[in-house]
Amino acid sequence: MRLLIMGPQGVGKGTQAALLSKHYGIPAISTGDIFRYNIKNHTELGKEAQSYTDKGELVPDEVTSRIVKDRLAHNDTKNGWILDGYPRNAAQVQALDQMLEELGTPLDHAVALEADHDVLMDRMRKRAEQEGRADDTPEAIAKRLKIYEEQTAPLLETYKGRGELVAVNGVGDIDEISAKIIAQLG
Ligand code: AMP
Repeated sequence: MRLLIMGPQGVGKGTQAALLSKHYGIPAISTGDIFRYNIKNHTELGKEAQSYTDKGELVPDEVTSRIVKDRLAHNDTKNGWILDGYPRNAAQVQALDQMLEELGTPLDHAVALEADHDVLMDRMRKRAEQEGRADDTPEAIAKRLKIYEEQTAPLLETYKGRGELVAVNGVGDIDEISAKIIAQLG
């Protein structure tokens, strides 16, 4: 199973990606996690990424797409994968299309998690208090949401047009949401 998990910040992409990863026995690959790991470990990539992540801006497409390409070449992706947080703009969709074409491994579905603005803001405020992520400042949160609305949300139409979109309400009990996604994926 090869899946994208899409949706705005705070909708629960990481949580659902982890549950789907366990269910299907495939890795959940989060570009945000890869950047955070590299920032924490002061790698060259981390230094390059941090100036963007701290502000809630997108890391340049070439950097991000290269990381995804390298990660998809690992052995643990033979039975599939879940991409969480990638692609985020049209250029990344194009880069992913090309990678998958080269690998001969087409995408199965793009899962879109949906929630209204107030629920998301509330969750982000709570996450900021509990996790203390460096990029959970009010400015960075607002910036990420704006980028999501302008650049990422339109991609759902792209996947819908390809007949690959599965949209699920992201508000409610996490196990029930996961069960609903799995039921729709068949
Ligand atoms: P996330 O945990 O998915 O919210 O990602 C945290 C931060 O990592 C984002 O605000 C971006 O700065 C960066 N990032 C994650 N995924 C991408 C992506 N696909 N393209 C560009 N930047 C990304």
